[in-house]
Amino acid sequence: MVKLCGIGAGYVGGPTMAVIALKCPSIEVAVVDISQSRISAWNSDKLPIYEPGLENVVKQCRGKNLIFSTDVERHVQEADIIFVSVNTPTKARGLGAGKAADLTYWESAARMIADVCTSDKIVVEKSTVPVRTAEAIEQILAHKSKGIKYQILSNPEFLSEGTAVQDLLEPDRVLIGGNEGPEGQEAIKKLKDIYAHWVSEDKIITTNIWSAELSKLADNAFLAQRISSINAMSALCEATGAQVSQVSLALSKNPKIGPRFLNASVGFGGSCFQKDILNLVYICECNGLVEVANYWKQVIKVNDYQKSRFVQRVVSSMFNTVSGKKIAVLGFAFKKDTSDTRKTPAIDVCKGLLGDDACLSIYDPRVSADQIKKDLSMNNVQWDHPIHLQPLSSSSSNGLEHVDIAEDAYEATKDAHGICILTEWDEFKGIDFQRVFDDMQKPAFVFDGRNILDVGKLREIGFIVYSIGSPVEQ
Ligand code: NAD
Repeated sequence: MVKLCGIGAGYVGGPTMAVIALKCPSIEVAVVDISQSRISAWNSDKLPIYEPGLENVVKQCRGKNLIFSTDVERHVQEADIIFVSVNTPTKARGLGAGKAADLTYWESAARMIADVCTSDKIVVEKSTVPVRTAEAIEQILAHKSKGIKYQILSNPEFLSEGTAVQDLLEPDRVLIGGNEGPEGQEAIKKLKDIYAHWVSEDKIITTNIWSAELSKLADNAFLAQRISSINAMSALCEATGAQVSQVSLALSKNPKIGPRFLNASVGFGGSCFQKDILNLVYICECNGLVEVANYWKQVIKVNDYQKSRFVQRVVSSMFNTVSGKKIAVLGFAFKKDTSDTRKTPAIDVCKGLLGDDACLSIYDPRVSADQIKKDLSMNNVQWDHPIHLQPLSSSSSNGLEHVDIAEDAYEATKDAHGICILTEWDEFKGIDFQRVFDDMQKPAFVFDGRNILDVGKLREIGFIVYSIGSPVEQ
């Protein structure tokens, strides 16, 4: 029986390995992590992450051909193929701080593999890593190889949070990069054979290893660039009377552009886009490509600008101050159908509002009160365009005394002066806004940071509405 080991039981490692187990009943899959609490959660009824359909997949395989364990070394040693999905955050200190990928988790995983393995292995990069990382890993493994042969493959993961299970069950492509020699090609074939259980051959792309590594960074950079492009247009729409939804529609009908990732919003978030673009910027700079680096930097600058523009619009609309006013924040996750708040624009927006002394009542259907408070108490706002507002991080108090976590949208909006929609959860579209309006202070404002609400209906009820990329009142 082929044995797989997935190192890292996070948003990528957990769902990815669970779907492999589901689709390949003849393969034994062990998912390992150094975090005891994460592994305990994977072994419980309350999984550590929320993804539609994930519970069902895990329940079908757990205890059969899928196990979650902290016995990292044993499962690594026993595996034929090791998938590494550890985190690769932005480096916080030292050379390249704020841009370069922090590969310490990868390095320690590679050193552990080198220490414990006693037979040949295929090591698969699932994490998003800088181009040419495989070279460094090869060096680490070779250092203690004890005659063992390692083949390193790059198999970057393209799942999106919120649709991870669906993306894994029906991937639009599977990318596998490996060394061009016969041993590399043989390793590619072994990995292809696993995917062949449920992915058709035409969807499996094989490349050289550097192309595969770079393609993942490029993929995220292109997606984020599209969001910043439409958000940049939204600012121009607000200044000129054009409507960003109409501009998006016109663009989407051009088959060379297409409809995806054309929704203007308060900005992109998530653990990947910003970190991967910063990493790309750093790699460009290291290769002397300053203008190329500047091009990608601008994608992040526009995103920061969009968040600060939103805060400024809230404050300026509400008579230039939100001090002491209750603002209901609906949605805190970085997108719908996930509980993930990493780099969510809600953190920056909330901190911007708290910085002008607002009182926030926050409701998210999937994010816990503890997580929201933890995110807001961290000194993590980086404003590139602090137009008038100072982020909270410059204030002496952490402002959490002005933050209340509500049980539902009605509690959050009761007696509020304004509402900010920061995540596009479907349930917000079903809110009884007449009831909400009746219970709010007047004038009552709605700032739709995701453009999900029916502006006409809200205005009929009596709300003053701002949606991204439209003039304030029409
Ligand atoms: P995560 O933080 O949720 O999970 C990483 C896990 O690795 C953690 O549970 C951590 O405890 C574990 N870990 C770290 N070092 C370890 C070690 N030496 N041994 C065992 N376990 C170890 O991160 P994530 O969101 O799953 O992302 C993982 C990688 O996948 C990153 O490189 C990310 O860029 C990439 N990626 C993420 C997504 C996404 O949507 N989250 C999508 C595609 C790719």
